[in-house]
Amino acid sequence: MTASLADERRVQRLDMHVHMVGNGVAGSGGWLRLSGWHRWLAGFMLRQLGVPASALEGDLEAIYAEHLGKLARESSMDAVILLAHERVHDPDGTPREDLGSMFVPNDVVLGLAKTFPEFLPGVSIHPARRDALDELERCLEGGAVLMKCLPNCQNIDFSETRFQRFWERMAESGLPLLAHTGGEHTVPVINAALADPRLLRFPLECGVTVIAAHCATKSGAFDRDQFDAWAAMLREFPNLYGDISAMISLNRCGHLRDCLRAEIAPRILHGSDFPVPVLGHRMWLQGWIDRATFRRCQEIRNPLERDWQFKLALGFSEEIATRTTGLLRQ
Ligand SMILES: [Zn+2]
Repeated sequence: MTASLADERRVQRLDMHVHMVGNGVAGSGGWLRLSGWHRWLAGFMLRQLGVPASALEGDLEAIYAEHLGKLARESSMDAVILLAHERVHDPDGTPREDLGSMFVPNDVVLGLAKTFPEFLPGVSIHPARRDALDELERCLEGGAVLMKCLPNCQNIDFSETRFQRFWERMAESGLPLLAHTGGEHTVPVINAALADPRLLRFPLECGVTVIAAHCATKSGAFDRDQFDAWAAMLREFPNLYGDISAMISLNRCGHLRDCLRAEIAPRILHGSDFPVPVLGHRMWLQGWIDRATFRRCQEIRNPLERDWQFKLALGFSEEIATRTTGLLRQ
């Protein structure tokens, strides 16, 4: 690699929180099971992205990946981290196919990252799986750059000491953990208490670089807001970060401007949480941005770019998108 190519790589702009969605129609082994509110929400999200809701019955993986690849290429981002989605597991490591709303196997994102240069693979492994360490090795060989979990939706208690070897192997291999923290409304919750950022102490002590998704903010009116608990942990753990994904929204934007504070800003990473809708209305109504800025950003059709432009307008620096590269396993 020449020096200029190496420089280019170092200053890559990344959206580090983008979901893969699929229904397994083409044989990936994944599935999507939506009912009631979640089915309505999925159809709504697809339509506002320009994908017909009928894609839910077709080869959704292929339709979604093509559409997302195009959005990424047409945005200010150089690449996005595309996330797999693990199944719910019992504490003894039994997968629960009857719970949860979707399963995106690791091979789906590992495979797509080989075809699409704008995708980097973020895998998802329940640490209680009987083959958790083997799956971790397989994913490392396959080029995983990050590992994502939703502890409250997948039933993972990060603080369990029996996961020590798993966290140590992640730390050794330089694979960061992206952990959902705070409330959740787009995927069914199994145990809300597991979204507490304080449970991340154990993987942090094992040396893992941990990114708390959504900075432990609340999603709905009845969730607990754990932003302050997360912010206090930043002082103690230099290997702890937070992403501001899904925070350009009506329900999760409350702490966005707190993330600009001098002691917090250096730990903030840019993610969109695509395909979660990007809505800046409340930021305008609260006077954080003026009407012209709101309209300019809200009218951007590409949701990846809309999310990014709202963040720049709020005063976030380019570094929130370039900082991630240095934290990933390369
Ligand atoms: Zn997410």
